[in-house]
Amino acid sequence: MELLNDLPSLRAWVAARELARERIGFVPTMGALHAGHLSLVRQARLRCDRVVASIFVNPTQFGPNEDFARYPRTLEADQALLAGEGCDALFLPDAGMIYPEGFTTRVSVGSLGEDLCGRSRPGHFDGVALVVTILFHLVRPAAAFFGLKDYQQFVVIRRLARDLAMPVEVVGLPTVREADGLAMSSRNRYLAPGERERAASLSRALLAARERLRAGERDPAVLEEEALRVLREGGVTEVEYVAVREAETLAPMERVSGEPVMLLAARVGRARLIDNMVLSLA
Ligand code: AMP
Repeated sequence: MELLNDLPSLRAWVAARELARERIGFVPTMGALHAGHLSLVRQARLRCDRVVASIFVNPTQFGPNEDFARYPRTLEADQALLAGEGCDALFLPDAGMIYPEGFTTRVSVGSLGEDLCGRSRPGHFDGVALVVTILFHLVRPAAAFFGLKDYQQFVVIRRLARDLAMPVEVVGLPTVREADGLAMSSRNRYLAPGERERAASLSRALLAARERLRAGERDPAVLEEEALRVLREGGVTEVEYVAVREAETLAPMERVSGEPVMLLAARVGRARLIDNMVLSLA
């Protein structure tokens, strides 16, 4: 796996791929990699000629009281995992390469970024949109791969690419889970043993809501209440939101129809965890 530590080496790598008419697949990450990230690399390899991953803990998507400084950084292990998965190259920018002296441009995804997770993380999705825009311009991928675990992020990036006519296919891939259903996340490292058990009730809450939907319930408020009940029973009391939304646009719905998604966010110990499930009506 080639290590691309600066912009000239990234540019040279991209130019060589383009000269060879190879399709570049791109997997942007913040590192502390786990099987969820690796599933993106695997799919990228299947669908593209060459795969480049990036590791960049992006300062503009963290709020002032968030975990930027203590976000887990495990570069050596990450490199080994990516190489083992057959990733062709790893781009490792530092903040000065992405946001050089004099940087002033902003990207906003408007109200899409102010809802759900955006309520407690103002500016977060604009920061995501900004870094993804810059990374797409540098890497020029044919396709970029994102996890549906971060469902709102996926919707935001797909919208961004469409709105700004970016020539990239934005691919969303299923959430990889632990055996007890907990969605894999770099932030699961923050969980102490008792908290780790409580965290499993996030996915159980989604499954319980799906059961109620399958039994005929169509009132979003009732489905949300069912999820909240399971969270409470599982000892998760600091719930930020539970919401049933239209899967494509994240618009609220009065009666569940079409393709709904249930999204939730909760604090367990010092970890802020999110999860979601597309609730197929079929
Ligand atoms: P992050 O390093 O947290 O920024 O995540 C990088 C990419 O990996 C994002 O597209 C995430 O949605 C994706 N990802 C994170 N966790 C999972 C998971 N459990 N399953 C699938 N994709 C994931």
